[in-house]
Amino acid sequence: MHPDSHSPTSASVPNRTPSRGRVAIRYGLISLALALIFIFDTTTRYEVAAAVLYTVVIFVAHSALGRGELIGLTIVSVVLTVVSFALTLDGELDSGLINTGLSIAIIIAIAFLIIRADDARHTAQQTQEQLKKIVQVHGLEGLTTSIAHEVNQPLAAITTSGHACQRWLNQNPPNIDKAHEALGRILHDAYRADTIISRIRRLTQGEPPHTNAFEVNTAVQEVLELSQAELRRHRITLHTEFAQELPRALADSVQTQQVVGNLLLNAIQALAGSTTNERRITVASTHEDGHIVVSVIDTGPGIDPEIQPHLFDAFWTTKDDGMGVGLSISRAIIEANGGRIWTDTPASGGAAFSISLPVVPKKAPS
Ligand code: ADP
Repeated sequence: MHPDSHSPTSASVPNRTPSRGRVAIRYGLISLALALIFIFDTTTRYEVAAAVLYTVVIFVAHSALGRGELIGLTIVSVVLTVVSFALTLDGELDSGLINTGLSIAIIIAIAFLIIRADDARHTAQQTQEQLKKIVQVHGLEGLTTSIAHEVNQPLAAITTSGHACQRWLNQNPPNIDKAHEALGRILHDAYRADTIISRIRRLTQGEPPHTNAFEVNTAVQEVLELSQAELRRHRITLHTEFAQELPRALADSVQTQQVVGNLLLNAIQALAGSTTNERRITVASTHEDGHIVVSVIDTGPGIDPEIQPHLFDAFWTTKDDGMGVGLSISRAIIEANGGRIWTDTPASGGAAFSISLPVVPKKAPS
């Protein structure tokens, strides 16, 4: 089976098929409510607009009913209202006509609003599922590229040293010292590959988000190391301006790394597509107003004021192959962690994206 072929929607939607007994009870209760309202409406004077009570039944019952059943209930309510009007004996006919017309209009309007609200909820649910799927795919895509770039290098070095080692040993007499050196290089590169894979695993461990106290500079540095190959490929110089002696952040460290990785990727892409001579990304950390702020600043084309309001909208992108979810997901993650994300235009041009994170509260002096 293709990994995408199972539908997350079908997996997450609860089974709503009720037993026959429950259906009978539901219909019984609805019928009883309709009958009581009908009797009340028919036996009271025209001036009493008892028929609006049908809207209560529609409202209470709608979550248990399908679309067709809801429309059926609305039609039955309207018909009962008209029949009641015909059977009512007391009261002023004019008031009766107005009240019946109003009641019917209200019943239809409520049913229509309920259907619209259900549709909106359904669309929101679908978008959420779609977003989850995109995040998975997006994450995997980024991961594959990182692994390919980062692990290929030590692997290629291991192969070269392995061949050299073979040659030294095949010599007559074998050059043991040189072979020993080559073996040392192999072990070193194997260790490098192992470190890279451990880091990638740490970045993507599928644990539920949890808040922990962590050193922001260390977490950001790990992300930067993973992006070295991508930065080199686009001839981008990386600067870090990390504030020393920062308090520890109190947030989900893995999610924070995902957001910083995403901002960095955007900065790299902005520079990759630009013709600017100065290809530089600065990653800075500071401590402001009880929060730690991490900024990713690039010397790319910057952000047009016209597109500024859309930056954090889901599925909004200016890239041909973009998905437009990176920034919206980043914002959701950072806000869930008690922080903020925003963008500025540096005086020197380019773009700057910043996130703020809460810090571990200072212990009160005892
Ligand atoms: P995507 O990268 O798939 O387009 P994002 O939500 O990450 O999705 O970004 C949305 C848009 O924000 C991008 O298409 C781009 O127009 C703009 N953007 C993001 N980062 C930068 C940046 N560093 N410089 C210029 N524009 C940016």
